[in-house]
Amino acid sequence: MTVLVAGAGPAGARLAQRLASKGVSVTLVERLVDAQQDAFSSAVVPIQALADLCIPVESISARWHGWQLFDPEGTKYQWWSQNDLGAVLDFGTLRQQLWQRAIEEGVEFLRGWRVKSVLSFPDWADVELLGPDGTFQTRRVSWVVDATGHSRFLLGSSLPSKAFRADMVLDGFGVEWILQGDKQNTDFWRDRVSFFMGSQWVPYGYGWIFPMAGDQLKVGICRLPPPLKRGLEPLGSLLKRLLVRNQLDGLSVLDRHGGVIRSSIRRSEAHVKGRVVGVGDAVSTANLLGGEGIRHALVSADVLAPLLIEVCSQPLDASDRKNKKALLHFERRLSRRLGWRWNLSGRLAKRTWWGLYDQKGDRRLGSLINALSESANAEDLSRLLFDYRFERYGFRFLPYLMGWR
Ligand SMILES: Cc1cc2nc3c(=O)[nH]c(=O)nc-3n(C[C@H](O)[C@H](O)[C@H](O)COP(=O)(O)OP(=O)(O)OC[C@H]3O[C@@H](n4cnc5c(N)ncnc54)[C@H](O)[C@@H]3O)c2cc1C
Repeated sequence: MTVLVAGAGPAGARLAQRLASKGVSVTLVERLVDAQQDAFSSAVVPIQALADLCIPVESISARWHGWQLFDPEGTKYQWWSQNDLGAVLDFGTLRQQLWQRAIEEGVEFLRGWRVKSVLSFPDWADVELLGPDGTFQTRRVSWVVDATGHSRFLLGSSLPSKAFRADMVLDGFGVEWILQGDKQNTDFWRDRVSFFMGSQWVPYGYGWIFPMAGDQLKVGICRLPPPLKRGLEPLGSLLKRLLVRNQLDGLSVLDRHGGVIRSSIRRSEAHVKGRVVGVGDAVSTANLLGGEGIRHALVSADVLAPLLIEVCSQPLDASDRKNKKALLHFERRLSRRLGWRWNLSGRLAKRTWWGLYDQKGDRRLGSLINALSESANAEDLSRLLFDYRFERYGFRFLPYLMGWR
């Protein structure tokens, strides 16, 4: 049996590698030619993800052990740990390494190719591909994986799942610049991740400055406004203001990129449709609260791989129903792996970012940051923002979640 994986981001590349390592015949199709192209992710991950998810060490650009938050008034708060709390990855190098590993496991890798369409039949799928020279090719495969990220090119976002209608897809839009500094002007940003929160910085969103190797900095902003919100200041001018306010506007810009982060709050969309199964951002594994999805994309690939291997090992005449049944476990297993706090974090993201546009929103966030500075240490903050452990702050967060404050 053959599996075709559309998209070689973290989810698709990792899944292809896992399948091929167990003898499944895999074709991985990626529209990009170069892994460094469109490397839009700011790529912060918590420290334990490096080992737990076998993140290639070559992709680690810097490690950090401090949190630095600037509240709506511009007041700075810091939390430091004795130990590393996380890493900033070079997203292009991460992709390059994952591609390399997939190829080494025997994956057929078509880079510069696009998946144009899929026709699902009871026992196979026909996939139309467009090559770099403009030629079309059709492949007949057993299963197709939609790993095309936020575009959900094959599964689409409006799936006919009953529960999905009660759910909501949120969109975040980000831009990021890579700056070249020197020892002096990057010193203040080293060893920590810095966030700027409040409507004076970024209405409906947040800004960040992350350290990278070679005295480089990633500076970006992301905004998650309510749908159809009009008249918003362009992201580029917000980013320039962030640079000016931090005296970084004189540094040379090595790269400018942007991207979309998109997820449903409850992740209730169908994960399997005909002979297509989704993985990564295509099935809403990007977390909207922290704008973070790399590790969840890798997790989703790890959860899906054994199920697809099982389906592929069944005899060719096994019924379609039997095949589907194995894959239907995917949605439940992934939800269990992401944990019960996931939905809560989605609701909190909507409340936080949609409400952050005026003084009231600023006051609410300001008092929360202030409360955290009194009650939490650096490790607590990591548990809160990476593991979504809100319950420890129950009485503070509950009114915030319910909109009472
Ligand atoms: C501004 C911004 C900042 C972010 N910061 C962080 C962060 O700090 N930490 C973090 O963990 N996450 C971050 N993320 C999110 C993270 O990048 C994603 O969640 C993660 O990359 C998802 O992986 P994926 O493999 O599901 O999708 P993607 O990485 O989006 O990969 C999808 C791939 O599919 C390819 N593709 C699309 N359509 C086709 C087609 N038709 N045919 C062939 N190929 C196709 C694309 O070229 C792409 O390579 C950020 C995202 C944005 C936008």
